[in-house]
Amino acid sequence: MEKELLFSRSDIQKRVKELGEQLSSDYAGKDPLFVGVLNGVVFFFADLMREISIPVKIDFMRAASYGSRMTSSGEIQITKDVEKPIRDRHVVLVEDIVDTGNTLAFVLKQMNEKDPASLKVCALMDKVERRQEEVTIDYAGFTIDSGFVVGYGLDYNEEYRNLPEIYVLKP
Ligand code: 5GP
Repeated sequence: MEKELLFSRSDIQKRVKELGEQLSSDYAGKDPLFVGVLNGVVFFFADLMREISIPVKIDFMRAASYGSRMTSSGEIQITKDVEKPIRDRHVVLVEDIVDTGNTLAFVLKQMNEKDPASLKVCALMDKVERRQEEVTIDYAGFTIDSGFVVGYGLDYNEEYRNLPEIYVLKP
């Protein structure tokens, strides 16, 4: 499939560094727990953590949605939950991309039931056009209107994840 460059390596590097600095300052002294939502988040998560200058702990969870990938997600299920205790912790949920917001709304609800001291969201990409659920993205890397993006962890049928840049697929 044809694709067009959207964000270069250096665009990504610069933005991730800014997010890391912001988070380091906002969470200083709070011993935050960063929870990555697998799988697409891995590259972003690994880079972001290395731009954070305060002590942090990390954990992962996985949410799977059933339905066609390029359209809105269907039913959502937690296929791997966090393993560290959440209660009274300052938690930052780290996502690859928020589209309709359905996945994030579901994950937030599950997470809130574990009584964290605070719960915020950091997403690499905020895709605003198809938003259905009102979710707050406290730290957004890039905001885009529409289009299906791949690379830097994001896939189309499990392809393109290893590309170091972010591209938009041309249908
Ligand atoms: P939502 O529940 O917000 O509609 O969708 C979230 C999930 O859909 C993301 O975690 C991601 O797996 C997938 N998704 C939504 N938009 C895109 C996109 O533009 N590119 C890729 N690769 N995945 C997307």
